[in-house]
Amino acid sequence: MRITADFHSHTKYSHGTGTVEDNVVAAMSLGLRALAITDHAERHPLIGVKPSRFDAMRQDVTAVAKEYRFKALLGIEANILSPLGEIDLLPEDASKLDVVLAGFHLTAYPLRFKDYFKLPFNGVTRCVCRNTAKQRALNTEAFVRAVTEHEIDVLTHPGFRLDVELKPIGEACAATGTFVEISSRHETPDIEGTELLASTGAKLIVNSDAHKPASVGKCEYALDVVQKIGLGDDVVVNISDKPVTFRRGFTV
Ligand SMILES: [Zn+2]
Ligand SMILES: [Zn+2]
Repeated sequence: MRITADFHSHTKYSHGTGTVEDNVVAAMSLGLRALAITDHAERHPLIGVKPSRFDAMRQDVTAVAKEYRFKALLGIEANILSPLGEIDLLPEDASKLDVVLAGFHLTAYPLRFKDYFKLPFNGVTRCVCRNTAKQRALNTEAFVRAVTEHEIDVLTHPGFRLDVELKPIGEACAATGTFVEISSRHETPDIEGTELLASTGAKLIVNSDAHKPASVGKCEYALDVVQKIGLGDDVVVNISDKPVTFRRGFTV
């Protein structure tokens, strides 16, 4: 089993080490048919990409795609910012992108100060937001509301650094057509969690979340999980050459 396209990679636009070209060359050397450039959105401290840069990034991605005759997509990895499911991407900015990913990142800064104490955004609030059933419910609600109220194509690494209930998240993703990522970088969800997600009817996607060109397309962990469960391309969207249509309509 192999992945045929990698829909989650970072470049120097946020804190990856490679350029768009470097990542595309790496993807081509593995025989991938497509690659998405999905740098961190603006509420990722210091490295987040402001929407004002999207046009320049698009030019870069288009030029590289043309030069190499390769399907390179422009996306973003937005941050989930509160139990209300708010994200740091406006619809008018999202319209400039091929794919929208969103996930929870411990270092992101929320929209309101009080939200620091609702989800664990850093070491300090991690002590406040203890692993109680109530906190788990709030964390889960953040993911469910994010995919229910925002046009998100892919939910990244659910369960990474945030204790969540995967079943309702899978159900919300199944209902909205949001793909759930099995992350090789963060090795999450585990086999049990992935099985649970698949049982909800949600479609899964395996991605590298590469932060350097050498990691592009490297999905050993996710593929191993998928293989052990015995999932096929009817559930996992990027392990065959079938076209992939994302929730917001982009087909590749
Ligand atoms: Zn992430
Ligand atoms: Zn990422």
